[in-house]
Amino acid sequence: MTKHVYQKETTQLMQDLNTTTAGLTQAEAQQRLQEMGLNQLAEAKKKSALFLFLETFKDAMVIVLLIVAIVQMIMGAHVEALVIFAVLLLNSLVSVIQAKKAEGSLDALKKLAAPDASVLRSGQEQSIPAKEIVTGDIVILEAGDYVPADGRLLEASTLKVDEGMLTGESTPAEKEITTLSKEAPIGDRINMVFSGTIVTYGRGKFLVTATGNTTEIGQVADLLESTTEQKTPLQRGLDLFSKKLSFAILILSLVILGVQLLRIFLDGSVDVTQDILNAFMFAVAVAVAAIPEALQSIVTIVLSLGTKKMAKHHAIIRKLPAVETLGSTSIICTDKTGTLTQNKMTVVDHYLANGQSGEFSTDPKKWQTDEQRLIEISVLANDATISKDGTKLGDPTEIALIDFSENKNQSYQKLRKQYPREDELPFDSDRKLMSTLHTIDQQKIMVTKGGPDIVFERSTKVLRNGQIVEFTAELKNQFQKQNEVFAERALRVLAFAYKEVATDSLTLAEEEDLVLVGLLAMIDPPRAEVFQAVADANSAGIQTVMITGDHKTTAVAIAKEIGIFQPGDQALTGVELDQLSEVELAEKLAKITVYARVSPENKIRIVRAWQEKGKISAMTGDGVNDAPALKQADIGIAMGTGTDVAKDAAAMVLTDDNFASIIKAVEVGRNVFDNIKKAVAYLFAGNLGAIIAIVFALAIGWSNPFTALQLLFINLVNDSLPAIALGMEKAEPTIMKRQPRDPNSGIFTGKTLISVTYRGILIALAVITAQWLGNQQSPELGVAMAFTTLILSRTLQTFAARSNTQTSLQVGLFSNKMVLLAILVCGGLFSLTLLPGLREVFAIPSTFALKEIGLALSLATSAVLLMEITKLILVKIQEPKSEIQLTRN
Ligand code: ATP
Repeated sequence: MTKHVYQKETTQLMQDLNTTTAGLTQAEAQQRLQEMGLNQLAEAKKKSALFLFLETFKDAMVIVLLIVAIVQMIMGAHVEALVIFAVLLLNSLVSVIQAKKAEGSLDALKKLAAPDASVLRSGQEQSIPAKEIVTGDIVILEAGDYVPADGRLLEASTLKVDEGMLTGESTPAEKEITTLSKEAPIGDRINMVFSGTIVTYGRGKFLVTATGNTTEIGQVADLLESTTEQKTPLQRGLDLFSKKLSFAILILSLVILGVQLLRIFLDGSVDVTQDILNAFMFAVAVAVAAIPEALQSIVTIVLSLGTKKMAKHHAIIRKLPAVETLGSTSIICTDKTGTLTQNKMTVVDHYLANGQSGEFSTDPKKWQTDEQRLIEISVLANDATISKDGTKLGDPTEIALIDFSENKNQSYQKLRKQYPREDELPFDSDRKLMSTLHTIDQQKIMVTKGGPDIVFERSTKVLRNGQIVEFTAELKNQFQKQNEVFAERALRVLAFAYKEVATDSLTLAEEEDLVLVGLLAMIDPPRAEVFQAVADANSAGIQTVMITGDHKTTAVAIAKEIGIFQPGDQALTGVELDQLSEVELAEKLAKITVYARVSPENKIRIVRAWQEKGKISAMTGDGVNDAPALKQADIGIAMGTGTDVAKDAAAMVLTDDNFASIIKAVEVGRNVFDNIKKAVAYLFAGNLGAIIAIVFALAIGWSNPFTALQLLFINLVNDSLPAIALGMEKAEPTIMKRQPRDPNSGIFTGKTLISVTYRGILIALAVITAQWLGNQQSPELGVAMAFTTLILSRTLQTFAARSNTQTSLQVGLFSNKMVLLAILVCGGLFSLTLLPGLREVFAIPSTFALKEIGLALSLATSAVLLMEITKLILVKIQEPKSEIQLTRN
């Protein structure tokens, strides 16, 4: 019987897979990738374009129209029938194109967020897209990583993996390096890791034995990621609204049908069947034209255009609703290190127990024992490296430490060779410590570095001038004072300690009774763009709160510098936060702008407290333990350099880790919401105009102002293109000067509703006047005039819909070329109706000549001009009121 992967010796497995401890060569890996294919699970099939196309014919309205067209055909009205077919076909095509475009941009987003993995290739560690992993690769795992493939562990230090998704086990599985003798279920294969599970603690290295669909998860079909669409609150709101509206419009159409049938019955008719058919078709056309069926895809397109724009500004949206929520964000809780600061650390000072600080000799021969030990700990309890080509790999804090050693002419590599690492307790931000085990001068020594307060707590002795002495209260006081002095200079401080141990493998319990050696202090300058970003956030009514693992004094010093901590504000440590009751926290919340030495659990509490106050809060994070807080926040923001787990829990990922990118994303989010509003208002105003004109004509006994075909045509011409073009409008100049949007207010808040109604009425007035003018000659000319005026005024309305506060000239006529293009296309499509041959189909009589077109155009233009002038007047009246004093909430 063949042995399973977990039963073989690793040397045997390596041979089987034709690989070495240095990993595959690049060429071999490429070759295997060609043969085996990508390391990814087969995705759920997408709907084909044909399927989407056919799906559009499921719509009840479309079916009715098709039936009507077929009856028309049988009755000999071939041209009319053909045109209906053509219009329906075009409508369906446009929907398919829109749906595919929306899908395409969502796919692009997914790709941007695809995970990477660290592999060894020819002995060099490198980061590659996880889907390019092949069997035989050696993968390095760290806390927070998703395991990218199945494999056998080669190294594991305190490695714990959450395998719940495969085994249902809620506590993480502890991994070991061993060979199992018996067959074991997945949960008991402690020497293996499986694709899709999460490293929650420690580090490890494994040999890939299965990728893609051959992995355990690949074989569990129903665990395959299904591509369920996520709807945003706005989309859901609009869905509901559309449903209600459609119902109202259907009733209206029935009423229109009823009135028309009554007329046919009362007035008598030459061709009853044809008239009934026409009445029927008109009623359906009214419904089709008035129901905003393009709305959903337009909203999706505008949202995904927004996500594209955000991606350009280094913010990758992982959950579509976030685009909208960003616009309502009023609190941003942000990490300090790397987000507000550059994360480019440089050691600038040190402190030893004998009081020495400042100058640090660049001649290692002159170092005393204390200095020597300080440097040893700083490079041994350290994972950073400098590769052959000079690139520095690892945590910036640790890079700073090896840089310091190198600058003082002590090769960190030499020390690491001299005292190889025998075991380790990796850093985690809850413990704020890291320790490693070495043999130094024939003694087993554990070296530890970490947050000074934590190291002080765990130290009982001090190394002073080469002697180990008691860590007296006086000495402790001296160290604490120095720590404060560094912190006030906004420096980040680490403490270094060691201990002789009597073991070959470390446990967390060993990190006690340490011998404190000294401190190193680093600068980490604020990012240049952060000053402006914090100011922008402030004027946009958004409060920035710093949440950091760093020391309180350091945090406050930096927060003051960049404008987050203002006079009267408070700073709290995690411990102080724990002592506050919910009520006390709620009271103080608005004033606390810095939280220091926090644990990830503290972060959840802070977000919750803000949410209790009804504030939409964004929260940044990068570690495994940050995931719950990122989920809890209205917008979880993960760092591009953060763990897979954090990214997965987040709604947005910052590819440059930069706070300024969050503020940019907020601006884009606000703009997207504005633009969706503009597009929706444009659509509804046009539809309303048409409906008012129809109801008016019907009420005073005129003939229908439009034929059914005309209505369908207008629906095709005016619905999609201008609305999408409006979705691309640039941000209004005041966008970051107003308060965040109330998340509960829908799209039709007072102002939008009023402007939709106003613009609808103006369009209707223009159409009614046109029909009246035409009617003076003949009802046919009245219809042609009404149709032309409606199509032109709806098209020109695009100009008025571009801004709520500025005229199109003020916005810049050419600032959104898509609007001009959309208007040109609409105009072009309209002129088709005037072509000989098509004129009859569109019921345009020969009496409709240049003068009539001129008239219709003037009426349409007047309506739009009135819209623009009203805007100017309203802005003038409201100006003094809109200068709201921005206060901190
Ligand atoms: P922020 O939360 O703003 O990103 P941070 O980097 O200080 O700030 P953590 O990474 O959680 O937050 O680190 C918490 C603390 O742990 C640090 O302030 C420092 O004292 C200590 N620390 C950070 N990195 C290491 C490390 N590599 N080894 C040992 N201790 C560390």
